[in-house]
Amino acid sequence: MSGSPALFDAHLHLRDARILPFHARYVKDALDVGVTACIDCATRPEEWAMEVSSSLAATTAYGLHPWYASVSVPNWLERLECVLASDPNAPVGEIGLDGIRRVHDGGTAQRAVLFAQLDLAARLGRPVILHGARVWPLLLRLLEPWADRICAWQLHGINFSHELLALPFFKRANAWFSVGGGLLKPAARLLPELLPHLPLNRLLVETDSPDRFPIGGDPLVLGQHQLLYNQPGNLRCILRAAATLRALPVDELAEQTAQNARDFLAAR
Ligand SMILES: [Zn+2]
Repeated sequence: MSGSPALFDAHLHLRDARILPFHARYVKDALDVGVTACIDCATRPEEWAMEVSSSLAATTAYGLHPWYASVSVPNWLERLECVLASDPNAPVGEIGLDGIRRVHDGGTAQRAVLFAQLDLAARLGRPVILHGARVWPLLLRLLEPWADRICAWQLHGINFSHELLALPFFKRANAWFSVGGGLLKPAARLLPELLPHLPLNRLLVETDSPDRFPIGGDPLVLGQHQLLYNQPGNLRCILRAAATLRALPVDELAEQTAQNARDFLAAR
């Protein structure tokens, strides 16, 4: 894509088992549309240990995702600290609380796993990538004690009312806001209303691929098979929707969000 700015996908999952067999195609499609850099979230011990080589400039984040909080993995916290020690640039993530999948313990395990990882990130001075699907108001209140103990936050896949920006968390937190395919849902209300309230130099764009296949996006295509997996190439339609809401040229927003992603990773 000569002449177009390089795009930065601020949140995806290169190690997801569903796309590993199609990895080369997934990366080629990304590069074809100009996505050259990404933050790749390794979400559980099997993924932390994986070697993934890719021509995308990928920064890997390591963390135990809330979906795996009740899976019993011996010494998981020590193993996480070990893998972080071996990669001094790695953020901690994605971690958080989840309101999509039903849990049977009232969220106790998710909270314990989250708080342990926040303490680790604070001690090691690492940025945090945060998952708060459907529980953002609760999560942002719970995180208040950590707000300025973490050097940088990426709030990933945000979808909440702009009124939450008045919470005490945001007065002390060094926060970046990552916007994904939710923006393309015809019924989306909160996110289109929130977007103009966010500081332009704190805005990130993400696909969260292979999840969150966006309406109007292109699926990962393999020969005659169309797999409805999301891919980083769909970052362009998310950027277009965000640029319309911010009344900015797409290329300008692409450059700005790529710079913002680099700033987030450099924050210490
Ligand atoms: Zn994710």
